[in-house]
This record gives sequence, C-alpha cells and structure tokens, in this order.
Amino acid sequence: MQMILASNNAHKMSEMRAILADLGVELMSQREAGCDFEVEETGTTFEENAYLKAIAVTNATGMPAIADDSGLEVDYLNGEPGVYSARYSGSHEHTDQHRNEYLLSKLEGVPLEQRTARFVSCICCTFPNGDVLRARGTMEGKIMFAPEGKNGFGYDPLFLADGQTVTNGLLTPEQKNAISHRGKALRILQEELRNYYVNQ
Ligand code: IMP
Repeated sequence: MQMILASNNAHKMSEMRAILADLGVELMSQREAGCDFEVEETGTTFEENAYLKAIAVTNATGMPAIADDSGLEVDYLNGEPGVYSARYSGSHEHTDQHRNEYLLSKLEGVPLEQRTARFVSCICCTFPNGDVLRARGTMEGKIMFAPEGKNGFGYDPLFLADGQTVTNGLLTPEQKNAISHRGKALRILQEELRNYYVNQ
C-alpha cells in the first residue's frame, strides 16, 4: 500500500521507511507526491500538529498520509522546547548546531541529575474517508554537557538515552530505531494499521 509521509525531512523518512517496510507500506515523501507546501504547525500539542500535517496532505492528494510531530521535553526547562523543538533558538533557518548550543546555554550550571528529558513522537495517519489512526512513543534520557557523534539529527548528539552508554549521535540507525520515541510510536502504529486493513 502507498502512503505519503507529510514531511520532507530525509532523516524521518529513512527511520519511518525502515520500520513500515515490514508492513508492505511504500512511503513517498511529500515532495515526491507533488505537495510543495509547508503546513503551519499552529497546534499546542504534538498530537494536534501531527494531525494538521497529515490531513493537509490527505486533503491535497486524496491518499492516506502519515505525519510525525516530535520534539524534546526538558524537565528543568518545564518541558521546553516541546512543540517548538524545530524552531528553538528563534528561527527555522537556524541549524541543529545552533539549537544544540542554545539548549546547552539554557542548562549552563545545571547538574546531570537535573538534566532529565525525553523525546516524544506522535504519529497520525489520515485516510481519505475520514478515518484517523494515532500512536505515541517516548524515549527517556538526559541532556549531556557537550555534543557527541554525528549520527541521527536534531538534538541526538546531546541526548543520552536511559540504559545507553553513548549519546544518540553515536548509535547506529538500527540501535536508535530499537529504542527511539519514533520507533516505539511506529511499532504501535504498525499494529493499528495491520488491524485497520484486516477490518476493511
Ligand atoms: P517536527 O516534528 O518536524 O516539527 O520537528 C521536530 C524537532 O524535534 C526536530 O527538528 C528536532 O529538532 C527534534 N527531534 C525530533 N525527533 C528527534 C530525534 O529523533 N532526534 C533528535 N532530535 C529530534
């Protein structure tokens, strides 16, 4: 079955493709599907933003679409950057490096035990008949004091997941998928999709 990923983020695409391939889902990017628009993330929750992104693509193409809205919640910062993770530090134009430096500056002097954080991924799948499937996954960990590793994307070089000895930036894609917020949400969604198609 074909589905459009409501995103042009190449990292998300490869993480999601790897997990959904098991189900026989062929993922197309938004660009490949001819949807050259960026959906404004006006929601205040990951769930709302994932729905806004997916439904915009389903409405434009008449095809099932899947969207992930994800981000980092840092306890010491009362859950910041949260839904603003991609634009933390002021602008979408800034790089991951800018955002990581900004996050480190907000946590200056904060000891390790107070640097607890989690990644959250909310995935929403929308269908042309109005049906909606949803899934959520989290990965708990801590924000380290300096970036390490070049794998993954975003805040991965700063994030040490519980039970790991190195940051996400040093994990292989397979190691990250096995424990990540997005991996967990996708595996829940995989089950929901399987049930959904069985009951069609
Ligand atoms: P959005 O879901 O595209 O709105 O943006 C999510 C933002 O959260 C990304 O741009 C990253 O900054 C951050 N983020 C989400 N998932 C991950 C991840 O797996 N690793 C590192 N950063 C992530």
